[in-house]
Parts: sequence; structure tokens; C-alpha cells
Amino acid sequence: MAPIEKPTHEKYDYIIIGGGSGGSGGGRRAASYGKKVAVIEVQGKLGGTCVNVGCVPKKIMWHAADLAEKLRHAPNYHFADVPTPKFSWSTFKPQRDAYIRKLNGIYDSNFVKEGVDWFDGHAKFTSPTSIEVTKQDQTKFTLHADEITIATGGRPTIPSEKTIPGASLGIDSDGFFELEEQPKRVAVVGAGYIAVELAGVLHTLGSETHLLIRHDKVLRTFDPVIQDTITPWMEKTGINIHKQTNVVKVEGQKGKPLTVHTDKGDKIEVDVLLWAIGRHANTEGMGLEEIGVKLDKKGDVIVDEYQNTNVKGITSIGDVQGKALLTPVAIAAGRRLSNRLFGPEKFKNEKLDYANIPTVVFSHPTIGTVGLTEPEARKKYGDAVKIYKSSFRSLYFSMIDEEHKEPSVYKLVCVGPEERVVGVHIIGQGSDEIMQGFGVAVKMGARKEDLDNTIAIHPTSAEELVTMR
Ligand code: FAD
Ligand code: NDP
Repeated sequence: MAPIEKPTHEKYDYIIIGGGSGGSGGGRRAASYGKKVAVIEVQGKLGGTCVNVGCVPKKIMWHAADLAEKLRHAPNYHFADVPTPKFSWSTFKPQRDAYIRKLNGIYDSNFVKEGVDWFDGHAKFTSPTSIEVTKQDQTKFTLHADEITIATGGRPTIPSEKTIPGASLGIDSDGFFELEEQPKRVAVVGAGYIAVELAGVLHTLGSETHLLIRHDKVLRTFDPVIQDTITPWMEKTGINIHKQTNVVKVEGQKGKPLTVHTDKGDKIEVDVLLWAIGRHANTEGMGLEEIGVKLDKKGDVIVDEYQNTNVKGITSIGDVQGKALLTPVAIAAGRRLSNRLFGPEKFKNEKLDYANIPTVVFSHPTIGTVGLTEPEARKKYGDAVKIYKSSFRSLYFSMIDEEHKEPSVYKLVCVGPEERVVGVHIIGQGSDEIMQGFGVAVKMGARKEDLDNTIAIHPTSAEELVTMR
């Protein structure tokens, strides 16, 4: 790893605060135009949330869980003497961590290759064009540039002790990736991406899993077909979903069994309590207020469609600006911003279009979605909306016992006489890999007719999307 000790230029062309997805994407693109680029990262390693405590270690854990499911299915496919799979969390974690360290090194060498200076330290604005960097040993130096981007991401939200006594006995998704042993019993609080994904992994790998949600369904921002399929399926597989439930108190000691008290009077005994109730932006202690950068009520940096803040020369990308908290979005925003700021004339109006961003939830089975949900489309287009829906079992499950046959449900949301496809919502085996191509189709303005004119690939699940009636 090679963070730079001291600035190599009196003035840089560009400074990015945060060496995560957005900072890396934007920094490398700016350097490719020959600009002098500085990236500041407080964690002493690059890659940010996605690489260290997000997408990557999460997907590796999802693969482990997926494999456990497949091993359990093996006897259905007449494999004899398949042992009951036992997952060794404590030996798998160091291997996973080693892979993450390798990625940290790749991010580092990419910066070196492209000539990006990266500094290990905490960044704070001292003026709209200068950043004070405080290193681990508390020594400081200042960097200067006329263009500065805030790409500091976010961190998990945990209820305060005042709201929920004992809340701090719980961990968050960062803590999940620090667990050295698999918890035997776990309570996950939340109903979004992280709650669904981590509860799914823990349950599939064999932990007794409780999921505490405030309402009746998970993923309430997704199309109803997704909520209505995944919630009962998670319950059927054995996840104990406590609906309309809020935690009121947590008792116990850190690292010891905990008692989670709910407003329904339940006492849930667990080894680990995991909060997954959302994230908030890293904007504190950066001098933003002092230089006048406006934040919204939630604390996210307010930007226009070109990622400009209200202060000239200061822009913001990625999770910290609160829109579409996804790695490819942060990267794309960073690259487009660098194209606009430093690229050729043809990019002078370059910006990221935040419409029709495809996304996947790595649940069991996986979920893919792009565009408008049915309620959103009905609100926007009223009676012009036409829905196509298909429920089926993927061929893989034809050999699997009834109890374990996963559902697949696909929905197309179409609009107008030309039936333009404005939303695709799918759940079922393989949805994670299927979604990308349909994301392209929706982005290109595909009509239902275009899907129908595409020859199906048989036998697959994806073919349902081009054969719906
Ligand atoms: P980050 O990657 O968070 O980078 C910001 C960096 O800024 C951090 O490294 C931080 O240390 C640094 N920083 C903060 N303050 C300062 C400061 N003052 N000075 C210097 N440095 C600072 N997205 C997907 O697309 N797919 C997934 O499967 C997926 N899974 C996820 C799973 C989990 C558990 C989590 C938590 C997130 C997941 N995400 C996923 C979201 C994804 O990780 C984020 O959208 C992405 O990392 C955002 O990139 P960013 O550059 O905005 O911020
Ligand atoms: P989300 O915003 O997705 O979900 C958090 C949910 O928790 C809310 O929707 C809410 O659901 C529930 N909640 C909020 N406050 C409370 C509370 N006080 N008590 C109980 N429940 C509460 O946040 P996540 O932290 O799950 O993920 C953050 C973001 O990271 C995601 O939005 C996504 O953009 C990204 N991400 C992407 C992934 C991927 O691409 N596969 C994976 C993981 C994260 P309700 O209102 O129903 O109670």
C-alpha cells in the first residue's frame, strides 16, 4: 500500500475526499486526462464501503449461502452420501478478508498506475479551495485545488441509547463483517436491502434468525409483487419474521447473549442483534457548515443534476448526496463528473441520468428491478398502464421436493398504446444475472413488442420476460 506522505504539488487540479467507489472512479478518470489528482481517504485503505464492508464481502457470503442451499438440494438430484453441509465461518472469514486486502492493493496500484496521489488522513475544508488533512499521528498538511469533490459515503444508523436503552449492544453491517464466529441465534432489525440480505445469509448458513420489521412486509419501496413474494417465502424457509414490531429495550452485555424486548411484549434471546435500519451521510467534522455547503434535513449534501453543490468549485457524488446508494451509481457519477470538468468539449454537459437504474437484492431467491413500480406508474400514467405478470417454477426446482421449490414471479409495467416498458420487477433464481440485460432494454425505451420480437432462450427463467401474454 502506498499512500503519499506529503503533497507532490503545490496546487492540484482536483481533490476528491473519499477513496471509495465514487472517489476511485472519478479520480482515475480525471487522471486519465492528465490532471493532477489527490484523493484523501481516512481509513488507511482504499475501496470504501463496497469493497471493505459492503457489496464484495456480502456477495461472497451470499455465494456461501447459495452453495449451502445447493448442497441441501443435491440428494434431490440423486447424489448419494452428500454430507449435511457444515459451514466453518471462523476459517472462511480470514480467507474472505485476505481477498478484500488483495482488492485494497489493486485499488492502490491502479492509483499508482494512473498517477493519482492518495493520502491517508481525515479531510476538512479550511476554505472552498483548501483541505486540511490530519494523518493518524495527528500531523497535518494542506492541499489546494479549484475543483473539490465530496465523496465521503455514509455509515450505518443505530438508534440512540435514549430512544432504545441497550441499543448500542447491537452491531451494524460493519460489525457483521467483523464477526469471527457464526452466531447461533440472531435478531436483525430493518426491512431494507441490508436486513433482507444479511438475514437471508445468516438463516441459510444455519443461524436461528429473527427479522424484526415495523410493518407487514419487507422491501416496501419495491413493487408490491416483490414484497408479496419475498416476505412469505422468507417466513416459509424458517426466518422468524416479527411484523409490526419495534424494539423497545435490549439487555445483556457486549459479546454475551442478549435479550431483545419488543413493543409486543416479546423477549427474544439472541447471541447477536444486528441493526439494519438505514444509513446516513458522512458530513460531520468536515468544515462544510463553515464554508457554506448546504445539506438537507437528513444531512445529505444537496447537489444539482450536474453534482454541483451550492458552493462554486465544490461537487459531490455517491452515497453522501443521498440518491441511489449503489456502487455503480457512485462510479458512474464520478466518471461523468470528471469528463465534464476535465474531458474534451463533447463532455461539457455530461451528467448522470438517475432514471432507470437497475438494482438487485441478493436475497434467496434474488430480486431484480428497474424503472417504475406499478403504483408509481399508475400515479404517473393512470389508466395508460398495462401490467403483464407471470408466476412459475424454474426448471431447476422440478426435481426438488415441494417444500423447497422457490417461487419465480415476473412483472412488466407497460405504458400507452405502444406499451413502452417502464418497469421490470423479477424475483426468482438467477434474477441477479438476468436483470442487467433488461436494464439495457428499458434504458433504450423498449416496447413490449420489442421483447416479444426477441427469440426466447430455452429453457431458462429469463425467457418468461419475452413470452408474456
Ligand atoms: P464509500 O464507498 O462509502 O466511500 C467513501 C469513503 O470516504 C470511505 O472509504 C470513507 O472512509 C471516506 N471518508 C469519509 N469521510 C472522510 C473524510 N472526512 N476524510 C477522508 N475520507 C473520508 N451497492 C451495490 O451496488 N451493490 C451491492 O450489492 C451493495 N451491497 C452493499 C452491502 C452493504 C452491507 C452496504 C453497507 C452497502 C452496499 N452497497 C451495495 C452500497 C455501496 O457500498 C455504496 O453505494 C458505495 O460504496 C458508495 O460509494 P461512495 O464512494 O459514495 O462511498
Ligand atoms: P434501506 O434504506 O434500504 O432500508 C432501511 C429500512 O429499515 C427502511 O426502509 C425501513 O423500512 C427500516 N427502518 C428504518 N428505520 C427503522 C427503525 N427505526 N426501526 C426499524 N426499521 C427501520 O437501508 P439499508 O441500510 O438496508 O441499505 C442502505 C442502502 O445501501 C440501500 O438503500 C441500497 O441503496 C444500498 N444497498 C444496496 C445493496 C444492493 O445493491 N444489493 C445491498 C445493501 C445495501 P420500513 O419503513 O418498512 O420499516
